Amino acid sequence: MARYTGPVCKLCRREGTKLFLKGTRCLTEKCAIERRAYPPGQHGQAAGRRRKASEYQKQLREKQKVRRLYGLTERQFRNTFDRVRKLPGVTGSNLLIALESRLDNVVHRMGFAPSRKSARQLVRHGHVEVNGKRVDVPSYLVKPGQEVKIAEQSRNLTSVRASLEALSRAGPLSWITVDADKAVGKMTEVPTRDEIPVAAQEQLIVELYSK
Ligand code: SF4
Repeated sequence: MARYTGPVCKLCRREGTKLFLKGTRCLTEKCAIERRAYPPGQHGQAAGRRRKASEYQKQLREKQKVRRLYGLTERQFRNTFDRVRKLPGVTGSNLLIALESRLDNVVHRMGFAPSRKSARQLVRHGHVEVNGKRVDVPSYLVKPGQEVKIAEQSRNLTSVRASLEALSRAGPLSWITVDADKAVGKMTEVPTRDEIPVAAQEQLIVELYSK
């Protein structure tokens, strides 16, 4: 299945929450959720008058929300789920941990890119190194202790500089350390579910895929 290339703000409006797909714009009043907080389409504004959502609809919407947040196709998302369901522990938490460990996500979390989409582009274009070696696979799973770095010759990319400046204002997560001057970061440990700032009911996704 091809990657979604349509208008991304519609996805946020469909899921009724900010998915932060457009970088800094998401933090401004131009955000479509701020201006039109109802589903897209001709009948979007009538959504409030619809029947109560079924269990299946709730599960489906939760899955779509998380999948779109991380910018994955259904196939990629499902493959990730099938991989983590064999692991010990809580499958829903393991799913989010696996999604957070993707290189494109880590690059975004480290503040080198304003969105996961632009982080993916940085990775794909060969601007990112893991432990000193170029890695251009966005789905690469970063392990604790590995160093993720913007390649020396790419550090002055305008987009990278702008993101790092924004990072110095916001600060990274507890399980990530970043040296903004050297454009290098480390995932210090595998995050726990509580340390992942994603408001999702991942159990609903597990229920959906377990049918
Ligand atoms: Fe979603 Fe960002 Fe668009 Fe707002 S600006 S609707 S958060 S993609």
